[in-house]
Amino acid sequence: MIVVLQTSVKPDSVTQAPEPPMKINVKQVLDKLSFRHLEEAPYAIVLIADGDTLPALPHANLVRAHLERLRNRKSDRIVVSLPTSAGTQLILGRVKETLSEFELLSLARRLITPLSEFNAQDIVVATAGLNRKTAERGLNAVVLATLAAAHPLEEFKSTASPKSPLRSISVVHPARLDLQATQIAARANNLARTLTALPPNELTPAKYRVRVAALARAHGWSMKFLGEKELKKRGAGAFLAVSRGSPERDAGVVRLHYTPRRKTRKPGLALVGKGICFDTGGMNLKPARHMHGMHEDMAGSAVALAGLLALSEMKVDFPVTCWLALAQNHIGPNAYKQNDVVKAANGLSIEIVHTDAEGRMVLADTLHLASAEKPGLIVDYATLTGSCIAALGTTYSGVFTTDASLREAAVRAGELSGERVWPFPMDGDYDTALESTVADIRQCTLDNEADHILAARFLSRFIANGPRWLHVDLSAINHKGGLAQIPTEGTGFGVRFTLALLGVLKLVQRT
Ligand SMILES: [Zn+2]
Repeated sequence: MIVVLQTSVKPDSVTQAPEPPMKINVKQVLDKLSFRHLEEAPYAIVLIADGDTLPALPHANLVRAHLERLRNRKSDRIVVSLPTSAGTQLILGRVKETLSEFELLSLARRLITPLSEFNAQDIVVATAGLNRKTAERGLNAVVLATLAAAHPLEEFKSTASPKSPLRSISVVHPARLDLQATQIAARANNLARTLTALPPNELTPAKYRVRVAALARAHGWSMKFLGEKELKKRGAGAFLAVSRGSPERDAGVVRLHYTPRRKTRKPGLALVGKGICFDTGGMNLKPARHMHGMHEDMAGSAVALAGLLALSEMKVDFPVTCWLALAQNHIGPNAYKQNDVVKAANGLSIEIVHTDAEGRMVLADTLHLASAEKPGLIVDYATLTGSCIAALGTTYSGVFTTDASLREAAVRAGELSGERVWPFPMDGDYDTALESTVADIRQCTLDNEADHILAARFLSRFIANGPRWLHVDLSAINHKGGLAQIPTEGTGFGVRFTLALLGVLKLVQRT
């Protein structure tokens, strides 16, 4: 058991509240869709079957004519004005039952796009003619897409952009849905996206901690901080090699802990995130094109934090510890450099090869701290390598584990959540590339070949006590034009994947 010191964090008046309250009322009407539900609704989204039979919709004759147009245009969305007392704008979406979760979420985003043009305040969401499973998946997708689109990211314009006027979502469906779980997942994703989008001067490690402390207070998590002094005492030379280049002494590892209400002997879950608040590349400085956007290099920590938020709101019955490795990778007279040899907290010496491979350095010591507490499962998230993006693009993220059943569970969780992942090899012979003549291990290689795999092999050396461990290289954290139901380039990828993974592993109830 690692003993960590309590450090108090002073609130910063400049920093804004971390979690803008979502005032959208999501409710269910336990009923089959009928004329009555549409009569009073100014806006309605109805998912219908892709087959030839016309679903039993209110105003069926009018809708039939439009559906014919929809079929001819081979489009999956159409807007119909209904002669109801509310003048309903009906958005119809055609759903094939074979759609993957990713495709369904992507369709949901296309369906809700007209809502912003309409300035919709209250919407009705329903299905007609779909089997129960597809209907419930579809409704869940539309609610997720709507809550993501309505969420304002923080901005710093002198004239604020108009906020979404959406007030309520009424889901009409005859069987009870777990809309609470849907909202929890949406809220957690919104948190991850909000933090990741913040400019680097607004989210320094110190300011990040203030936001985290506010969340910890609000949700009853214990919070401890291992600053540079504490990390030095623990010999965390890998983390400190990176943080020492910063002009500020605000880097460190945040440890958050959620305790279930009922005492349990269940093994804990550790969520670990790379939180590099800005990555210049260090002495091996990035060119402007590649340094632009490097405030997002803390996304792994935002996803880990958002995972904790979701699990804590779900009141899971096992302990969850969240480890955030917060630092910046700067240049400066004290910055680490190539050929340095540093010693990590587990005693392993590391030969520095490239100062832009800082993520695996801060994670090495953080994973050591996390695994020393002997959790049952560790999942770490990091925007770690360009080679993972080169291999997968930005619509999938990479997963790495030596545990075959965990690998299978991860791929299944990706399919179920629509946050898709693909596994890479983790064979031991990759370690040959990391052999050093002066230290126990090389940080990376210079030729960059299979760097995502080498990074995962490197990290595996810092996992003590043999817990199950999954490493997620977040290549899908930023996708031009948004991804699945998420409309922003920053996708917050990883929260719903994690919840689905815990569902597949039967640690949480599958939703
Ligand atoms: Zn880097």
